[in-house]
Amino acid sequence: MSSPTPVASNQSVTSQTVASQCPECEGAVRFDRPPLAGQVARCTDCGVELEVTATSPLTLALAPEVEEDWGE
Ligand SMILES: [Zn+2]
Repeated sequence: MSSPTPVASNQSVTSQTVASQCPECEGAVRFDRPPLAGQVARCTDCGVELEVTATSPLTLALAPEVEEDWGE
């Protein structure tokens, strides 16, 4: 006996998916929620680290490489 499965599709989710463009490879970089300025994300296409420099409009820049202090 197969009972009909109620389809509970919550398509009306209030998730504000935000997307911008990777300055390195021009790939789409998506955020599950609106990012904050200074937030660091990673491009899923090229793997580069990106920093959110502005949120309105969403602007991404290559994140400065955090280098260890090698002591020159
Ligand atoms: Zn990229």
